[in-house]
Amino acid sequence: MESSVRKKAELIETGGVTVDSSFAPYKSKATAGPGAGLESIFVNIDGHRVRLGVRQASRFSATIDDGIVVISAEGKEFARGRLEQPICHCPKQVYITVSERCVFDCKFCPVPKLQGKVKSDEEIRQIVRDGLRSPELSAISITSGVWKTPAEEARKVARVVRLIRQELGDRDVPIGVSIYATDESSELLKEAGAAEVKYNIETVDREIFEKVCPGLSFDYIVKSLEHAVEVFGRNHVFSNILIGMGESDDTVIKGMEMLAIKGVIPILRKTNPHPLRAGEIKIEPVSAARLLKLATEQRRIIEKYGLDAKKALTGCIPCTGCDITPILDL
Ligand code: SF4
Repeated sequence: MESSVRKKAELIETGGVTVDSSFAPYKSKATAGPGAGLESIFVNIDGHRVRLGVRQASRFSATIDDGIVVISAEGKEFARGRLEQPICHCPKQVYITVSERCVFDCKFCPVPKLQGKVKSDEEIRQIVRDGLRSPELSAISITSGVWKTPAEEARKVARVVRLIRQELGDRDVPIGVSIYATDESSELLKEAGAAEVKYNIETVDREIFEKVCPGLSFDYIVKSLEHAVEVFGRNHVFSNILIGMGESDDTVIKGMEMLAIKGVIPILRKTNPHPLRAGEIKIEPVSAARLLKLATEQRRIIEKYGLDAKKALTGCIPCTGCDITPILDL
């Protein structure tokens, strides 16, 4: 295993760095998911991208000189890499959160607490126009909380996909969507022109699922993922599995297998505690060794079922910033 991948795992374990003021022009702000509201930087260490939250305190500190980031720990250089500029949220992609609010109450997620804005069509068009100015743009990823109902959100996001397709004109940029699945969401999104979908299972431990995702159905998400593979094809359907909520490695491995056998690529994501959820959920530290062990299993499983992360076009697999990504990192 490359030493840069081990270093990436250690950086993900810690979750962030302190930075000095020279980073100000490079910071990106997440508006959705578990990183919502926190600023980040992206560093590419020997071809391995890592997203680092900008923290008030961390064992890692970063300085930048001429686009090269030096990350130090205990007064010694730990790693160095190229700073990558996000286009919108992450490098090479425009990542749009349509509804920054949610009627569900998953205990690890700050979005229901933030109750943020719902983007207008014109705001979305403008984000896409801005993104199109970048020659590096390779994908558009859309996510959304549930503003009113899952069915209404799915219809709305399908409409947003059409709107983005209009803005793209003849530019061939794939669009990926991550929303709460409904009976018709896969067909609606496919017809609108989406290339990929992600329906997050969040945890593959059913007991933990019942506690942390009240009001959501584990079986319904699995069924929706299975159907999505029929609509979008293998290697184009994804599901996040959060690590660090008390699940065992054995459960995670069996859960990844359950998804991969259906043609779904599982994404393993370390759960990062959010201050807005303090006291509502117990999140355990996830060591670099555990991340690497599970990512090794993830690679073995996806290869066993003939899946290929290099074929994924949008979202977190090609980004790789938050996770040790099978095949691309390890
Ligand atoms: S891996 Fe996913 S959540 Fe993380 S920065 Fe990339 S696109 Fe965003």
